[in-house]
Amino acid sequence: MKLLEYAVKDIFEQFEIPTKPGCVIDSIDNIEESISKAGLSYPVVVKAQVPIGGRGKAGGIQFADTPEEAAAHCRNLLGSTLRGYTVHQLLIVEKASDICQELYLSVLMDRVSKCPIIIFSPEGGMEIEETTRNNPDVIQKIIIHPLMGLQSFTSTYLLSKAGMDLKLQNAFALLLDKLYSAFCHYDCMLLEINPLILDSEGRFTALDGKGEIDDSSLYRHPDILTLRNGLQENPLICEARAFDFLYIPVEEGGSIAVASNGSGMLMSCIDLITKENLKVAAALDLGGGATAIRIKEALRILFSTPGVKAVLINIFGGITRCDEVALGVKMMMESIPEDDKIIILRMEGTNKEAGLSIIQKLPGDIVSVPGLRESVSALADRREKL
Ligand code: GDP
Ligand code: MN
Repeated sequence: MKLLEYAVKDIFEQFEIPTKPGCVIDSIDNIEESISKAGLSYPVVVKAQVPIGGRGKAGGIQFADTPEEAAAHCRNLLGSTLRGYTVHQLLIVEKASDICQELYLSVLMDRVSKCPIIIFSPEGGMEIEETTRNNPDVIQKIIIHPLMGLQSFTSTYLLSKAGMDLKLQNAFALLLDKLYSAFCHYDCMLLEINPLILDSEGRFTALDGKGEIDDSSLYRHPDILTLRNGLQENPLICEARAFDFLYIPVEEGGSIAVASNGSGMLMSCIDLITKENLKVAAALDLGGGATAIRIKEALRILFSTPGVKAVLINIFGGITRCDEVALGVKMMMESIPEDDKIIILRMEGTNKEAGLSIIQKLPGDIVSVPGLRESVSALADRREKL
């Protein structure tokens, strides 16, 4: 789950990572009053709260010297659309003016080393993408072994590799420690400060925050779960979540969706389909218990994905009842009148024969196949329709 800037800054505050004082507003009424109630002094920065990076370049970050200017920016931004996201909330913060350097600092889960990794760059801010492209050598990375945690040399190593003054060592070590603790505490996939600014007194302040929390850990972060509403998530992800399904948008413009019980199986399906030069639009992990109702709902959600013409269902179970799975397909076909939909069904489990006999009686292009490879071939055979 992605967090908006203000939520990340709440986490920063909790872990005593310095930020600028601010307030969140969600209405154009009493803007000036809200700002003065929060005790903010001018100039301020008005920041659109949408789950995208690069808001500065998209016009979502505005500076204001006076209450009137701030109010005008708020009225312009609230309700506007930034790269497809409607702005429902604004964060207004005191503007930082004593800036010697804009840095980049983040902790993220690295899939290659399977460890948290710290990324630090003495050149941060809006041009971080260009730095990555044109000057990658200034970006420092260090893998943190989860059992060892941060070591005393971690911060020194990063500072010296980045060519920065080692006088900053204590302040930087403290900051890193807080960021890493917050990352671990909240089971983050990513916790990023960009820009992290260094002022003339050698102090660090987080001007922006980005965060993503591992969905599987949300049950133990009730404070975070309450923030979910403001995120403007893909509605199909939310619908799927209501059934305890994990819905994953894969590739825009795809015409195939895949459902399976288990993410390993899903990934194999996606790999094999992609190898056939076909495009997967979405994948859905059914989790446990493939009952008829659940199969029907999963199919409905997948066929609601724009562009999806075919769904591959791959149920490989022992105790999974195939007649239930087939019944789910039947219920789905009965609820959607037009039958130009393609369903490729591979199922293994109890009552397979009973399941197959239900499938055989159904109208439309529903095929049952014995294995994963055959299911992909069945899709390839229908390439023109996809
Ligand atoms: P992003 O574009 O979504 O990453 O939004 P940021 O919050 O990072 O803001 C974009 C840029 O605006 C930053 O990289 C800074 O250069 C600038 N900026 C943001 N807040 C302040 C501030 O308080 N003072 C100054 N001088 N610049 C700021
Ligand atoms: Mn930023």
